[in-house]
Amino acid sequence: MISKAKIGKSTGLLFLLLSIAILAGCSGNSNAQGVSEEGKLLVTATTGMIGNAASEIGGKHVQVTTLMGPGVDPHLFKASQGDIRKLDRAAVVFYGGLHLEGNMERVLVKMAAQKTVVAVTQDMPRDRLIGTPQSEEFDPHVWFDVDLWKIAAQTVQDTLIAKDPAHADDYRKQGQRYLNELQELDDYVAQRMQEIPQEGRVLVTAHDAFSYFGNAYEVEVVGLQGISTAAEFGAKDVSRLRDYLVERNIKAVFVESSLPARSMQAIVAGAAQQGHKVSIGGELFSDAMGEPGTTEGTYIGMIRHNADTIAEALK
Ligand SMILES: [Zn+2]
Repeated sequence: MISKAKIGKSTGLLFLLLSIAILAGCSGNSNAQGVSEEGKLLVTATTGMIGNAASEIGGKHVQVTTLMGPGVDPHLFKASQGDIRKLDRAAVVFYGGLHLEGNMERVLVKMAAQKTVVAVTQDMPRDRLIGTPQSEEFDPHVWFDVDLWKIAAQTVQDTLIAKDPAHADDYRKQGQRYLNELQELDDYVAQRMQEIPQEGRVLVTAHDAFSYFGNAYEVEVVGLQGISTAAEFGAKDVSRLRDYLVERNIKAVFVESSLPARSMQAIVAGAAQQGHKVSIGGELFSDAMGEPGTTEGTYIGMIRHNADTIAEALK
């Protein structure tokens, strides 16, 4: 038999819990547990490519927030107070790692002590990563090798399953569908690059973002800047690249959406002075996706755009 006093006590406790729930509900869109009002898992990703993978694999069970929008350079990104709040309230944080996020990586690593913070490159075999000439670090631009990016998608899937096992079947199903789409994309890019005669298959861009692309799809890649855009380029780099273009008779160079176009324009002007006509072959998406709602605003769309732009300018 339950005594009257005990009923009073549990009713009081229930009232207290309800009050906390209401207060939490009023203070924002989500409670402290990293779940939205609609019960979706709150996921925050640094770049659009990572956020896109989380949306595709998480589907209706997740609410994804991406910190870096179109045209944002991750190497120079500084988290605002608003960004820190987006990281704080998330149940899961995905980032690139390998120093892609520059100074922000320290914040993320620290945050991993309190919540699920995962570098999507963590499960990639180190022998598939490309080293950088400047240091012992690895080149972080792994999403340009679509086959390698499938490992990132798998890591996202595994993390969501571990965090939210109730929806494991859906994460597995959506993950498999996305992996199939990535496989199709990988085949498409390879086929487009083969359309370019081998001697002309040279990709000249402003920063060294495309080494993985070059390795995966047999394209020679020449960059003006180092791996990170944080290093400034000098007049010497410009003239060296210009001479290379003239010597190799390269017809087109490419600008990037997340970098100013002026360095490439300087190269084009320099080559013209030597009587060699080089054109800007188009804009490539390197470290950020296109505008949301456009085809290039997805990972698959941005990679297809790049492959089509390169193939059309060089073939
Ligand atoms: Zn980059």
